[in-house]
Amino acid sequence: MQEDFFRCKQCGYCCHGETTVSLTQNDVERLVDYLRLPLEEVTRKYLRITDNVIQMQTVDGHCIFFRDGCTVHPGKPWRCREWPLHPSIMKDTSNFEAIKKSCPGITRDHSYDEFRDKLADFLGRVTYDK
Ligand code: SF4
Ligand code: SF4
Repeated sequence: MQEDFFRCKQCGYCCHGETTVSLTQNDVERLVDYLRLPLEEVTRKYLRITDNVIQMQTVDGHCIFFRDGCTVHPGKPWRCREWPLHPSIMKDTSNFEAIKKSCPGITRDHSYDEFRDKLADFLGRVTYDK
């Protein structure tokens, strides 16, 4: 993405933690297609299913697909594609400050209002296959 308000620094911070984003059925299908493995194998090796929530497994405090960057980039879940340009930023500055703190890729050059205007324009143009 070549937006002047966000450039991913590939720091991997958003891939770390003891849980991951949740996956939709489309996300699972995209992963299965990308990995070219049977659903059963993808589920056993890479997914964690708790009640109705599907997540990716974690290893050593990060997503199982993280290794010096995302190793399933074309097949990653839509929420990973969306991050950090989340619509909640539009609501108030506290969301903006919280997301900015956890993502060094967000520009430090824009005021909240400038950022919000650019994000609104961007969100109007982008669609995610959810
Ligand atoms: S935290 Fe932000 S800059 Fe770092 S990898 Fe994630 S999206 Fe990119
Ligand atoms: S799928 Fe890729 S981008 Fe998403 S959390 Fe895992 S390693 Fe990070």
